[in-house]
This record gives sequence, structure tokens and C-alpha cells, in this order.
Amino acid sequence: MQDKPTRIMVVDGSEVARTIIARILHQGMPGAIITTCGTAAEAMERLEQESYDLISTALMLPDRDGLVLSRHVRASRNHHYTPIIVVSGDADDRLLREGFAAGVTDYFDKSLGYHAFAEFVQEFTERNAGLVGRILYVEDSPSAAAHTMRLMERHGLQVVHTTTAEEALEQLHRTAAGGPDEHCGYDILVTDFFLKGHMTGGDLLHAVRAKFHYSQQEMPVLMVTVAENDEKQAEVFHAGANDFVTKPIVEEILMARIRSLLLIKQQFVALKRQSETMHRLAITDSLTRVYNKRYLLDRGDDFLDDRRNHPISALLLDIDHFKKINDNLGHITGDRVLEALGALLKESIPPDAMAVRFGGEEFALLVPRCSLKRAQGCAEELRGAVEALYPADIPITISIGLACTQNQAEISLTQLLSLADKALYAAKDRGRNRVCA
Ligand code: GH3
Ligand code: MG
Ligand code: MG
Ligand code: MG
Repeated sequence: MQDKPTRIMVVDGSEVARTIIARILHQGMPGAIITTCGTAAEAMERLEQESYDLISTALMLPDRDGLVLSRHVRASRNHHYTPIIVVSGDADDRLLREGFAAGVTDYFDKSLGYHAFAEFVQEFTERNAGLVGRILYVEDSPSAAAHTMRLMERHGLQVVHTTTAEEALEQLHRTAAGGPDEHCGYDILVTDFFLKGHMTGGDLLHAVRAKFHYSQQEMPVLMVTVAENDEKQAEVFHAGANDFVTKPIVEEILMARIRSLLLIKQQFVALKRQSETMHRLAITDSLTRVYNKRYLLDRGDDFLDDRRNHPISALLLDIDHFKKINDNLGHITGDRVLEALGALLKESIPPDAMAVRFGGEEFALLVPRCSLKRAQGCAEELRGAVEALYPADIPITISIGLACTQNQAEISLTQLLSLADKALYAAKDRGRNRVCA
């Protein structure tokens, strides 16, 4: 998102300390530009010439106090919002008492060492990097909109602006799951309460929660209200807003609120991804990458009950004399064979079919909309493909048992698999490397 390198200023009276800090910071953050200054005066001069993303200063400087420098930075126009970290010998009383008023953002205890300091700075800049997110912004006043858009964009946000709630809903429809612009959904909604058109910001908020079913985590909403009126504020929270800001908008307050709402959204996305990964792991066989038996038992009945899938063909396939591979070439080679067969199955079945590791070297395939006749053709093709596979350079063959729901639509999953198992047994009995129905 941010192409500009991070610029960090390190102010310290000791040349040794400056050199070491600059070197360690540079190692940890190769892309960052580190500027060192020996005095407060030098720092102030540099701050006039160039803009910095983070300033760290010792509490005691040769010419002035670190807190004096901090106050100076806060009062300046171009570094009004820049985080300031004060490095001190230990938790200094004066820092705790006066630091906040002087505009200090955070402290670092020097006794923890330079490496810890570099890590601290790195984490700090990552946490406070330019904001990344897509904002849907609803504001009917052109001047307010222009001003706020400029603020948000200056902080790295992508903003789409609409002037009415109706247009915003249209945007939400387009970007909702399954919509044409699904891939560029919004992270948060910032809306003015009073809008032209039939709907207010409150109505829009209501639609976001009740119609789109977006939770406060999935779509945080920041309401922009006019006056600080307790009743109105309570109303906004009741309606499901995450937070509000009052007009006229103060940059620092707006950005702090957006930052915390984006964090909520990012955590939501991370959790969702994590739970999807966990779910995938729970239903996948780790060796062969096809579904595990548990998935078949959980979902198989639904698959069979769904009439759109009928006729369904079940194929049970089992590697011939697999025990010999293990016995002669070892279990690890046996595993590689299973892995390769799993990969072959995954790539050769139709996307809506289900491939399952049914037992040790036995797999089940459920193929929707597939007659027995077609299944026979597919099974024969698969048998040939396995014969030609040579996983781990080993010739292998499989036997396949077939069953189909054709003419027996009420059959259960267990019955269907049991029929396929009988057919598999027959295939083994008749000499293996063949298909039986
Ligand atoms: P058949 O042609 O009758 O199917 O003979 P087979 O040797 O393939 O059948 P059997 O059921 O006698 O042996 C299956 C073997 O599969 C026994 C077991 O050790 C092995 N096996 C089961 N799971 C795994 C696994 O995950 N990895 C490896 N390497 N071997 C496995
Ligand atoms: Mg066997
Ligand atoms: Mg076998
Ligand atoms: Mg077997």
C-alpha cells in the first residue's frame, strides 16, 4: 500500500548510542530511512526540512529536554500527528507525570537494550503504518465530503463517496457476496446521519445490520453526527453503530476511530480465514488431500438426498496388493503412492463429485448425475490412468466396485456403499485390476 519508505528520526546526545541504534534499526527495517541527530536544535531544524513518520528521542539531550522537543513537535504543523517515543533510563516519574501533556506517544526503557528497542520501533511502525482499507463514505454536503475525503485519502485509505443512503445501498449490493463487485467489498462504512433523499444515515445503518446481516465486526459503521447530544448518541449505538464522530470533523479523532474500526475488521477477516482453514483441515485427509471419511459420513446423506444429484454413481476403489509395496519398499514409499493416487483422483473427477479416503488404501467417489453406464466408462478410464501412473516409479493397479442409485432412488448411503463394496470384492475375486458393477 505504502510505497514511500518509512522515515525515522533518532535523537540522542551520545554518538555511540546513535550509531548503534541506527545500525540495528537498519538491519531490522532495511527499507526505512534513519536520520540521527545529536541535539534538540538539530532535530528541530531537520523536522522543518523533511517529514518523518516516527521520532524517537532520549529524555535528556545536550541542549534541551526531550519533553521540550516533544512539545515543539506537537506544536508544529507538519509533525502534529507524528508518534514520539521517548527513550529513558528507567520508568522516570517525570515522564509519567508530564509525558502525556507534552504529547509523548510511548516510552521505551533503555535498560532493555538496543535490540529490544529496534524491535519495539519496528512493531510500532507496523502497527501505525498508513491505514489500509476501503471506506464507503456517505455525505450529502459537498464541502464536508471534499474535506473529509481529502483527510482519509491522505492517510492512505481508499474511499468511495456517495451522497445518499440509496446509492450506498446500491454499492453494498454490488459488493455483497455473490454481487458483481464482490472482490472489492468495503471494510467500513462512514455515514453522515442527516442525508438528503428518503433515507437517513440511521436507516442505512439499519439496512446494513438487518438486511445485509453484517455484524459490527464484519462491517463496522462510524456515524457522523452534528451535536454532542447524549440521547442521539445512545440512539446511534442502539441502531448498531460501532462509534460516532461529531462535526466539524477533527482529523486526529476521525483517524483514531477509523484506525480502531479497521483493526476490528482486520481481526474479523483473520478469524474468518483461520476458521476456514481449520474447517478445511478437519475434513481433509492430510496424506492424500481428498476428503476424509468423517466428511463423507457428515455430508454423504445430504448429497444423496439432493434429487438434483441423481442418478449418483458410487465407485469404491482399492489398490491391488498394496501390502506388498509396504513390505518390499517400506511404508514411506507406500505413503508416496497413496499421495499420488489422491492427487490423480482429485484432478480426474468432475468438480462437483466427492473423492474420499475411505480406508487405508481404499477410496470412495460419489459422482452426481452419472448413470451406471457412464460410471462404467469413467471407472475404466480411471483404472487405465492408474495403471499408467507409476507413482514413485512403481507399477500399481486398482480394482473398482460400482453401484448406482438408478432404479433405486430411495437407497441410503450405507446401502449404496455396501453394494459398491460387494462389486469391489467381486473385482478382486476375478483377478484384480478390473471394474465390476
Ligand atoms: P488387495 O489386493 O486384496 O487389496 O491386497 P492389499 O495388500 O492391497 O490389501 P490389504 O488390506 O491386505 O493391505 C492393505 C495395506 O495397506 C495394509 C496396510 O498396512 C496398508 N496401509 C493402510 N494405510 C496405510 C497408509 O496410510 N500408509 C501406508 N504406507 N500403508 C497403509
Ligand atoms: Mg484389501
Ligand atoms: Mg488393496
Ligand atoms: Mg483395502
